[in-house]
Amino acid sequence: MYKSPRGTADILPGEQGYFRFIEERAALLCQLYGYERIDTPVFEDARLFIRTIGPGTDIVEKETYTFDDRSGQAMTLRPEGTAPICRAYIEHGMHNLPQPMRLYYFASIFRYERPQKGRYRQHQQFGVEAIGDGDPALDAEVIDVACQFFDSLGIGNLSLQLNSIGCKLCRPAYLEELKGHYSAHVDRLCSDCKARLRKNPLRLMDCKKPYCQDIAQSAPRSIEHLCPQCKEHFESVVNYLLILGIPFEKNHRLVRGLDYYTKTVFEIQPQGEEGAQSAVGGGGRYDDLIEELGGKPTPAIGFAVGIERIVLNMKQQGVIPPAPSAQMVFVAYLGDEAKAEAVKLTAELRRGGIAVVSNLGDRSLKAQLRQANTLGVAYALIIGEEEVDSRTVMLRDMAKGEQRKVSMDEVVGLLERS
Ligand code: AMP
Repeated sequence: MYKSPRGTADILPGEQGYFRFIEERAALLCQLYGYERIDTPVFEDARLFIRTIGPGTDIVEKETYTFDDRSGQAMTLRPEGTAPICRAYIEHGMHNLPQPMRLYYFASIFRYERPQKGRYRQHQQFGVEAIGDGDPALDAEVIDVACQFFDSLGIGNLSLQLNSIGCKLCRPAYLEELKGHYSAHVDRLCSDCKARLRKNPLRLMDCKKPYCQDIAQSAPRSIEHLCPQCKEHFESVVNYLLILGIPFEKNHRLVRGLDYYTKTVFEIQPQGEEGAQSAVGGGGRYDDLIEELGGKPTPAIGFAVGIERIVLNMKQQGVIPPAPSAQMVFVAYLGDEAKAEAVKLTAELRRGGIAVVSNLGDRSLKAQLRQANTLGVAYALIIGEEEVDSRTVMLRDMAKGEQRKVSMDEVVGLLERS
């Protein structure tokens, strides 16, 4: 028996309502804020991700799905959404368009992680990117989109965590301080943190092991080591969030897992689980990324949210997506002649814009009506020998359990008006 690969899941019809609802709300919100949809390929040149996410990061070291294609070129399945969009921004000369470019996407993301609740090897993200402006008001706008998005889904009990990790001018000195702090405790660090101390010291801050957490708690804070420009930027973001009435908590341990972030970083987490691996979304500024990829210096900011985790939170909080418009009509029949009429009527109804499912095959009328019930249709149309002879159909209102005969020629118009 084949099963879906470890860490992946089928989204069955019964679950689709959640995903559709989330996508619809996101698209509507993006329209309100002037963000336009962009789609990029599922795979890219492997070097794009190594270069942007960073060679010392967990994603690049342990989690990418990379393969040589048949011409021997290394390709990577998209492990995050931002780098491909920056690649597209440069490739299509989007800097010539009015800035900032406001973009959004839905994308499948692939990371070879240890599967657990809310952590999969393929998941879906909705993300936005605002590229081409360094104004802190844009940071606040992007954070506002994220918050409004969760609001519009009816998910509550979330907390916005905020930090600044500085820029290439002020971060190196901060990292030295951080290394100094951790070096004093190196013997007791977990093996991952020992490696981080050498390769990616910023990530030391978000280790989940209890001893490492204690050390992080007393570690030097990035916001206390910002250069004047980063400090002013951070203060300004805070000020705009206050103006917008968006509650947030400063979290000096929030660093995010990718190398390209600068200045503002943020995450949205279920309340009480701050610091756990439960974030429903996160993002930040990446002012050097476009230049790193060969474009002009172009400041930018974005975020991404994990759709599966949102669905988990919706279920936990009892948020039920609106039911999809039910198949309105079920066509049932008895006998060969009736079947021919049923096939014709089904087609006419569909061409009239009415959703129909019809029985096909030889089930009893009782079985057909049971199926109509299970599908939750509003009406069943029943055609038997007598109806064929009198060119009528039996129209059954499923909720009321009442039925009446109507003319075959009028039924489409009747249902169109109902
Ligand atoms: P990241 O860029 O890693 O912060 O991802 C953005 C969001 O995607 C996270 O806040 C999570 O909600 C979600 N996410 C990240 N990795 C996974 C995963 N392996 N499985 C499910 N959701 C994920």
